[in-house]
Amino acid sequence: MSGSRPDVCAIVCAAGSGSRAGFPKNKLLVPFGGETTLFRTLSAFDFPAISEILVPASETDFDEISSLCRRFPRTRAVKGGETRAQSVYNALKQTESAIVLVHDGARPFVSRAVVEGCVESVLRGGSGICAVPATDTVALSGGDGKISSVPPRSSAFCLQTPQGFYTKDLLRAYERAFSAAEPKSYTDDSSVYADYISAPLLCAGSRDNIKLTYAEDFASAYARTGFGVDTHAFGKPQNHVVLAGVKIPSDSGFIAHSDGDVAVHAVMDAMLSAAGLKDIGFYFPDSDDEWLGADSMLLLERVRRLVEERGFAVKNLSVAIQAEKPRLKNYIDEMRRSLASALGLDANAVGITAGTNEKLGYVGEGKGVTVYASVLLRALPPLPLCEKTDL
Ligand code: MG
Repeated sequence: MSGSRPDVCAIVCAAGSGSRAGFPKNKLLVPFGGETTLFRTLSAFDFPAISEILVPASETDFDEISSLCRRFPRTRAVKGGETRAQSVYNALKQTESAIVLVHDGARPFVSRAVVEGCVESVLRGGSGICAVPATDTVALSGGDGKISSVPPRSSAFCLQTPQGFYTKDLLRAYERAFSAAEPKSYTDDSSVYADYISAPLLCAGSRDNIKLTYAEDFASAYARTGFGVDTHAFGKPQNHVVLAGVKIPSDSGFIAHSDGDVAVHAVMDAMLSAAGLKDIGFYFPDSDDEWLGADSMLLLERVRRLVEERGFAVKNLSVAIQAEKPRLKNYIDEMRRSLASALGLDANAVGITAGTNEKLGYVGEGKGVTVYASVLLRALPPLPLCEKTDL
């Protein structure tokens, strides 16, 4: 007991295979942006009001989950079962805490407020089932393809987790469920509690508290935006500039260590920034002769690889060029195609706009060009996982 509050145990279910996501391993253990979903879910419960966290794990994942648990205080893996219900039952038998919250490992975005509200509901009324009002109309079907009944939408709720109970009540419910003559299969704890203890109480869930089930859920849930800027000055005796990999006639070239492709430099910084990596100066320092006169499109290829290794791919890209000269109008489509092809995108996923600076400042005086780039990354399993899953 901490103070007068009963101890609270969180059981974070992680013993499934996550086969619906189509990943070659437990979806909770696939890293996105450097961290796994299970890590994020455990982080959500890592605050003082939670006295212990138990993580049911399959035999295959037991060692990996155990070592992940060691990164958190008061957290350990326990043996999972064949079904979710068996896993929860196994974990329940291993806690001394008075209150238990059962949570899906695949709901990493649960907030502290939702968790605390769930505990409050247990203290007030013996149970707390996080839920949100249904926005779609819900229908029940007997499995024959026909709708058997449609509850009024105002009384329909989508149940989430955590689901909180007094441990002794839920344990008793599971003991009875497993000793039943014909054991039912349960997909959540509220229905076990409802069958053997009493009608559970609803409490506030959240629309952010989504369950990551399919590969697309992961791709959008972990999407990231990034922004990059670069400027280069004219002054190299040269009859062209290179922008987005396209050679454009110009009365002067850009002063640069590389080929001076200011557009690609802005794009690379936007991508690296979105993925939480360092900037291009770190990966391609101008003190290193390896990058002297480098083709920036080859550097972009490397950046694409770095970002993919981190678990991301570009979804779309937006580039704004500020240049008094040269005139770019006739090259925009070629530049779009060039960037799209380098990033494995449809040309429609790349937008490029160009404008002058109304003769103001260094751009307006024709001394240099500035490019802004903004990018949206979708998450994908990091290499080499994604090569196997054909996402
Ligand atoms: Mg640059």
